[in-house]
Amino acid sequence: MAAESGERLSPAERQIPGLTPEESALVVRIGVFVKMRWVAIIGVLIASLIATQVFHIRFSLVPIYIICAVMGLYNFLFLYQARHLNAEADGSVPVTLTVPLRRMLTIPRATSPLIEKARAMGNVHIMVDLAAFTVLLHFTGGIENPFIFYFVFHVILAGILLHYRVAYVTATAAIVLVLLLVGLEYFRIIPHVPLEGFATAGMYREGAYIVSVLVALSTCLYASAYMVTSVSGELRKRQREVVMLQQQGLQEKTKELEEAGRDVAKLEEGRKHLLRFLAIASHDLKAPLSAVQSYIQLMLGGFTGQLTDKQKQMLERSSTRIIEQLGLISDLLDISRIEGGQIVSEIEEMALGQIAEDAAENVRAQAKEKQIKLEVEVPRNLPLLKASGVRLKQAITNLLANAVKFTPEKGEVKLRISGRNNDICTEVLDTGVGISEEDMPHIFEDFYRGGDREKTGTGLGLSIVKRVIEAHGGKIWAESPNPEDKEGRGSKFTFTLPGSLIIAGKKAGKREQAKSRKA
Ligand code: ADP
Repeated sequence: MAAESGERLSPAERQIPGLTPEESALVVRIGVFVKMRWVAIIGVLIASLIATQVFHIRFSLVPIYIICAVMGLYNFLFLYQARHLNAEADGSVPVTLTVPLRRMLTIPRATSPLIEKARAMGNVHIMVDLAAFTVLLHFTGGIENPFIFYFVFHVILAGILLHYRVAYVTATAAIVLVLLLVGLEYFRIIPHVPLEGFATAGMYREGAYIVSVLVALSTCLYASAYMVTSVSGELRKRQREVVMLQQQGLQEKTKELEEAGRDVAKLEEGRKHLLRFLAIASHDLKAPLSAVQSYIQLMLGGFTGQLTDKQKQMLERSSTRIIEQLGLISDLLDISRIEGGQIVSEIEEMALGQIAEDAAENVRAQAKEKQIKLEVEVPRNLPLLKASGVRLKQAITNLLANAVKFTPEKGEVKLRISGRNNDICTEVLDTGVGISEEDMPHIFEDFYRGGDREKTGTGLGLSIVKRVIEAHGGKIWAESPNPEDKEGRGSKFTFTLPGSLIIAGKKAGKREQAKSRKA
């Protein structure tokens, strides 16, 4: 049986796919039943040998050997069928034999054909065993053999393995068989085989003895049937309850998951709406603001007539505010584009080294203004990547712009690219003000602006960087203070791009570098 592979597990634990735990347990126990019969056969042989050789009880061993051989033979048959039973539901178990019995005892139909067959098999086993044991008794003294009480094991097995009514049927069948045996011997229809040297001869014809053994046997069998079935019935009930509770729990969890799934879908739908709205609103705001900005520039340039100092000051302030608003709009547009999956259409062969150099160029003027030393460390012959050059340049520029923004004059900012465990690693280090512990968990959130709010910004820079890196399958994180700064200042931003973006065997040549420069 398949269950043999799980020898150390209890029958209930050896779950057979497609069956309930109760059904699996039954199938496994039928297998145990088959194995137990081997033990019984060996037990009979040993007991017979001890009786004849040690206790010098005289009876013929030949019929015993024959009965044991027959038992062994039909046990092989059951073993074969038990294996077959596990392999597929439509086995060759003689269901026709036992279905009428099931109907007669009004035992409910099993939940699966396989379990129906397992039960049928169990019923046949018990009946065949009863018959074999009765024949064995006949050749070993009949009612004079005290082992007659071993019928109780059949009743116990039936009570544990099968329907509770089968246990009572087994007890009744055993008593009927004993009555038949005793009756046939009593009336000398069949010969009595005496246990010479053990029991007083002729006990099988002693009315009082026969009646007392029969009463003792009957009470013993029925009492055992009652005790075993009530205990195993209770256990089965509990098992069913546990399974039911498990299924209920599972159903509740499934329902919760479905609800959560619907909520997520709704949220996703809402997010898409918001992004569409954001894209349209930002786009529509950008054009008039840009127009206003160019008019202001014209006015500030003196093309529309002389301005008073006050007017100039007001227009300059307006221009600064408009530039800030245009920055915000451009960030919002970027977010909606990245979220909308635009990066996919931007993927190209690109040289990250060149992209990094260009990003550094974007912030060089601001760095110079603050006398910040800007260092770029890019290894030669970096492999080409399949990625969005435009977005990666934007990401590195954002990180560098922050580094410059949050580093005081005469500080240092370093951009470094290296290979790490098959990934490409980009680091931006500074010697600036660093990031406080309370800001650290939030810096990648939309609109989050930590610490020094005096500085200009939208709070969207890092969230754009994070989106860009994650859209490429990479990771980004920050450390503060910068672990490489001896004075414990500044911060360090690291992002990795997966090695899967590398175009195998292609190094960035001049042509690719020039192409990336255009991005
Ligand atoms: P913004 O720079 O527009 O405020 P970001 O999303 O780029 O928005 O950054 C979010 C916050 O993270 C910043 O307000 C700042 O507090 C912190 N931060 C980012 N980069 C640095 C850095 N290099 N040094 C110190 N703080 C930083």
